[in-house]
Amino acid sequence: MLAVCMAAAFAAAHVAAGVPALVPMPREIDATGGECVLTRPPAIEVDGSVPAEGYRLSVTPDGVTIRHSDAAGLFYAKVTLRQLETRRGSEGAVCPCCEISDSPAFRWRGVHLDDVRHFFGKGTVKRILGEIAQYKFNMFHWHLTDSQAWLIDIPGYPELVNQGRGREFGEAVGPFRYTANDIREVLAYAAERHVTVVPEVEFPGHFGAALRAYPEFACPGGGKVMCIGNPDAVKFAEDVLDYVCELFPSEVIHIGGDECKREYWAKCPRCRAMMEREGMTDPGELQQWLTKRLSAHLAATGRRAIGWDEIFDGGVSLPSNTMGMCWRPADGVGAEGAGAAHGVANAGREVVMCPYSHCYFDYSQGLDEDPFDYFGRRSISLEKVYSFDPLSGVAPDARKFVVGAQCNNWSERTFALPDLEWKLWPRALALAEVLWTYPDPHRRDFARFASRAEEHRRRLLRDHVNCAGIANRKTERAAQ
Ligand SMILES: [Zn+2]
Repeated sequence: MLAVCMAAAFAAAHVAAGVPALVPMPREIDATGGECVLTRPPAIEVDGSVPAEGYRLSVTPDGVTIRHSDAAGLFYAKVTLRQLETRRGSEGAVCPCCEISDSPAFRWRGVHLDDVRHFFGKGTVKRILGEIAQYKFNMFHWHLTDSQAWLIDIPGYPELVNQGRGREFGEAVGPFRYTANDIREVLAYAAERHVTVVPEVEFPGHFGAALRAYPEFACPGGGKVMCIGNPDAVKFAEDVLDYVCELFPSEVIHIGGDECKREYWAKCPRCRAMMEREGMTDPGELQQWLTKRLSAHLAATGRRAIGWDEIFDGGVSLPSNTMGMCWRPADGVGAEGAGAAHGVANAGREVVMCPYSHCYFDYSQGLDEDPFDYFGRRSISLEKVYSFDPLSGVAPDARKFVVGAQCNNWSERTFALPDLEWKLWPRALALAEVLWTYPDPHRRDFARFASRAEEHRRRLLRDHVNCAGIANRKTERAAQ
């Protein structure tokens, strides 16, 4: 308890003294007084006792020492050191003397980008990767296919990317595509920053672009979802996954699975014949069949499928390594948020939380003045993100299955990089701290966090990152 209080007091003094503030705050930090002039590179030592992705950082008047057990830990130590440094003219950089012992609470600390509804391109994707790595995010969920566009060029299916239209300020533009070389360039950039890129290719809903290219993969009569009764369509899905696995080294591959309108299957002769053959009574079982098949296909080559939480609807038994991504909140907010999401963890499958109650950064952020347009009427303020509890609603014995969380940046109403960055920052600072320091309560002090976030906002703006205001916010306190 004493240590916790001292750490909190240090954090406050740290900010008050005008010394660079840290986001996320380290787990343990002890200020020893004085400062170090950084005249030579840090001494670096491998120490097997340091946890994965963790580090120990010692700053003394004599110099800096970093201890780590893996490359990510060394990277994060350098990120922290950079946040501590102050440039002081000809003297070089100075750094407050301190001892830090640090490691993350969650292994999935993610940022999602919908590159389909607005095509941002590899330059913007790399820029966002560079920004999020500075706040110790390690997962980038790249939404690459949907009804509006199909962005990855898949060998054998050349028409896909010709349907890949995006839009700019409401006007259809494109088609857009990523070549294999574009993707390799992005992957190399991410790997240097210890960010894993998880590609998402959606089946069987959000599938309209593939159906414009290959109408034979739809149910006869023009359904908007994949015809699961058509073996060629199922083979297409497997071909796509094979190629995605060839390009992306990520163990986890996202297969979508959300918001699939199942009524088309009930009217399709091929799907009905398949239901009869397989002894299915509900069209929803077709999606379960496909999810099982694609998950097993990935598992056979050492990969693992992740899908939106709907893939677990109906209590289906999926391969044990299949993961869920929970976008529907546990508290039943909204018609579809029936708490099914947290059933994934409760069923013993690993899960990433991104409930739209706290993690949808395309929703308004509650600023008094805001030049940008948002999706829907819900508001998710900086303070709301900081209050996010990824384990809320999860049974105590199922909590170990929650591997982390991410923010989702859908782009129905996002039209350019400045718009995207404004919605991401500073809210991603709050999420970064929650995911790194959970559940330490002293770091839930929003006023102290806001003071550190203000310092980071200045730095982001100085680096030409369009960060929204911290202070210029409608207070939510009255409502709490
Ligand atoms: Zn069909």
